[in-house]
Amino acid sequence: DQVINKIAAGEVVERPASVMKELFENSLDAGATQVDVEVIRGGRQLISITDNGCGMNRDQALLSIERHATSKIRSEADIENIHTLGFRGEALAAISSVSRFTLITRPEEDLAGTEIQIAGGKFLGCEDIGSPVGTRIEIRNLFFNVPARRKFLRAEQTELAHIRQLFLVHALAHPDIGMSLKVDERMVHNLPMAGKMEDRISELYNHGFFEQLLPIDHADEEYTITGYAGLPQTGRKDRQDQYIFVNGRPAAAPVVYHALNEAYHSLITKGRYPAVFLFIEMEPSLVDVNVHPTKKEVRFRKPNQLRDAIVAALNKALTFQGE
Ligand code: ADP
Ligand code: MG
Repeated sequence: DQVINKIAAGEVVERPASVMKELFENSLDAGATQVDVEVIRGGRQLISITDNGCGMNRDQALLSIERHATSKIRSEADIENIHTLGFRGEALAAISSVSRFTLITRPEEDLAGTEIQIAGGKFLGCEDIGSPVGTRIEIRNLFFNVPARRKFLRAEQTELAHIRQLFLVHALAHPDIGMSLKVDERMVHNLPMAGKMEDRISELYNHGFFEQLLPIDHADEEYTITGYAGLPQTGRKDRQDQYIFVNGRPAAAPVVYHALNEAYHSLITKGRYPAVFLFIEMEPSLVDVNVHPTKKEVRFRKPNQLRDAIVAALNKALTFQGE
């Protein structure tokens, strides 16, 4: 079983940022309104996530680290109708098989919390501990028992860049949730709860950045497209400031990038990628987001219509410029 978990870890856990992604999604699924992230040495030494979600009692906590122990699917019908982010029930089992893992958690109805320790898939113990309501998970020494994987990790700065990027994506996808990011003991972002999108963008970027963006607001029968677009002649030499969300989930799909290129191209932007924060809503049946365990790929049922809608939305936003 330890071997199976380690193999599963290869699918779920690629690098510190992928651990953070799984833990963050669990916190969201748990109904958290505040999620605090801390990393040390690019996440290689420590990744910790603390949330104020529903927490777990001792039995639930012990179950959560078993493979295929998901509390999110109770019947086969549920599989067809997934609303929560995680559902395969293998993230915690996989992550704890390739790290020194600590879980501290308490549900509101219990007085004492539970602490569970695992190292490289080996159960070290479970005891009562004082804890606020919610869950805290600490991952130390990722891949300490899988040298081949550890070697595969990039420089600290590269891993940190992935972590920051992931934090930014989640911060933009969930402006209503309070979030903080501490890197090597230094608070890098501390974003308040219940923010509006515009506040969140202002908080994440330098002063004056938000003021230069144009609002996007477009709807047809199938797509509702909102967000903010940078001016054509602005932007970076890469897509770092282009964020795309489909039904609230990050979706870096080629068809969307093509549409962005098309919309901006007619407005002189060779070699530049203006900042874009694009939120696209559509019928769930028009999009397939769960094609892979790491959920990176997105497929659209009607890519051509989607492209046209995005181009129209951007053209509309950009023509307001002179008015
Ligand atoms: P999945 O998310 O696919 O169900 P995971 O391995 O990520 O599988 O988590 C296993 C279970 O542990 C979840 O179904 C949930 O019941 C519980 N769990 C994990 N993280 C949290 C959390 N932050 N708060 C409350 N419960 C959690
Ligand atoms: Mg999960």
